[in-house]
Amino acid sequence: MNSAVGGIAFLADFAIGGSIAISYGFTSAFWGIIIAALVIFLTGIPIAYYSAKYSVDMDLLTRGAGFGYLGSTITSLVYASFTFIYMSTEGAIMAQAFEMYFHMPLPIGYLVSSLVVIPLVLFGMTALSKLQVWTQPVWLLLMIAPIAAIIMKDPGTVSAWTHFAGKSPSGAAFNPLFVALSSGVVLSLISQIGEQADYLRFMPTLTKQNRRKWLWAVMIAGPGWVVIGAFKELSGSFMVSFIAPSVGFDVADQPIQMFVKAFGTFIPSAFVVLTIATFFVVLSQIKINVTNAYSGSLSWSNFFSRVLHFHPGRVVWLFLQVAIAIVLMEAGLFNFLNTVLGFYSNIAVAWIGAIVADLVINKTLLKISPSYIEFKRAHLYNFNPVGFGSMIIASILSIMAYFGLFGATLQAFSPFLSLVVAFILAPVIALATKGKYYIARQNPFQGALTELAASSNEVTEERVEESNSTGEQSPTHDHSHLHGLVGPYAELIPAPNNNGEYECVTCEFDYEQEDITYCPFHKGMICSLCCSLEKECGDMCKK
Ligand SMILES: [Zn+2]
Ligand SMILES: [Zn+2]
Repeated sequence: MNSAVGGIAFLADFAIGGSIAISYGFTSAFWGIIIAALVIFLTGIPIAYYSAKYSVDMDLLTRGAGFGYLGSTITSLVYASFTFIYMSTEGAIMAQAFEMYFHMPLPIGYLVSSLVVIPLVLFGMTALSKLQVWTQPVWLLLMIAPIAAIIMKDPGTVSAWTHFAGKSPSGAAFNPLFVALSSGVVLSLISQIGEQADYLRFMPTLTKQNRRKWLWAVMIAGPGWVVIGAFKELSGSFMVSFIAPSVGFDVADQPIQMFVKAFGTFIPSAFVVLTIATFFVVLSQIKINVTNAYSGSLSWSNFFSRVLHFHPGRVVWLFLQVAIAIVLMEAGLFNFLNTVLGFYSNIAVAWIGAIVADLVINKTLLKISPSYIEFKRAHLYNFNPVGFGSMIIASILSIMAYFGLFGATLQAFSPFLSLVVAFILAPVIALATKGKYYIARQNPFQGALTELAASSNEVTEERVEESNSTGEQSPTHDHSHLHGLVGPYAELIPAPNNNGEYECVTCEFDYEQEDITYCPFHKGMICSLCCSLEKECGDMCKK
């Protein structure tokens, strides 16, 4: 649980808050951060809940929330982009610290800060997550102490902050277009819920007894990350207003500059200050980038195993991820942060908007989407127009708006346009297609559960009818009713082993019923991974 709050360490928030304060002035940056944080928090609630309740990561959740089996491969790419954009942002922050402390040129610093994560991802994940838990109080202290020290030493810094104009043409004043543009940059972090879901999926089962505690834990580990995130963004804008007069706008949004000045207010020795600040920056950045590299490599693996049935092992994808991050850094991503993040937001928001609309409207209110999360190839259509279609249309419209095709107002508000379009289209397409593309072949395990819950009456009535017409119960149903299984191939599913698990015919490992299903091509039970790698079956199980 503690490790889920790992997000507190990353410093990109400081850079983002600082960078938008410089571009748009205090008031617009402030409201931009608050509004984006609200959107991220609210959309995070249903995603965190479903991810924890059904033990699924973001990719599996996306499949079952209106995107279909292959429809979610495109969101794997959107998520992979999030991890490499942020990996290079965080890596650049580390390289800036190397430059200041070791006088290491930035291009070399970029290489070092990226390559260092490879051995850590391969060998050091467990040690690192333990370290993360133990050092959390230290991070909080190192983050809050300098800001508190600055304000206590000179309370006038607060009013300097609220009057900070940066380079903004409207000064420190409120400008709705600048609020929207600031929000657009911060909203790129909406995909962070994917990293939170990687922790949430290991939550214990929700029961009547643990309900309150469970919900709190899910809120804190899920959307809760953005509370600290927004605090860090506001701190970044404060730090920029504090240091810009002495270091200039060009480097004021670099976290190492912020922390060197900030620690300098209460530690006299310049060398000690630089050492502490560098240590702080490097350790935070290594932690977050190990996560970014790991999550990114998983997304690549998800994408290629499904699209090309190609599964060379995660190390290959780890190298790909690191290579992309290096290229972005060397291309100077940090200098175009607002532009890159603002553009990315259009697509990320479309994705999250379509999922949330499916979870909240289609599943809960309209009940047109299955109440559970189905993620297996054998039971899903490749593409479900509900989420997939809404996301594509919302992305295209908001990117057109982003490039100014619909005028200046919608240009600034493009991620909000994306959110509204995705949110409206998902239920509209679900109703138009009558929910036909959610399930291609009934999942016998799930079918048994839902039927049991939905209507025990109907089953009895059916059975009475059957016995009336034939004089006895239909013998062909006996085997499936024995296990309570219904749907295609249900009668071919063998009894589970003593652990309640089934052996996969292909890889011969044992799996719980959530991860295995019957395959008519292999004539036996097959696990989700072997099923997704199968090239020859032609999806015969769904025909
Ligand atoms: Zn298998
Ligand atoms: Zn199949």
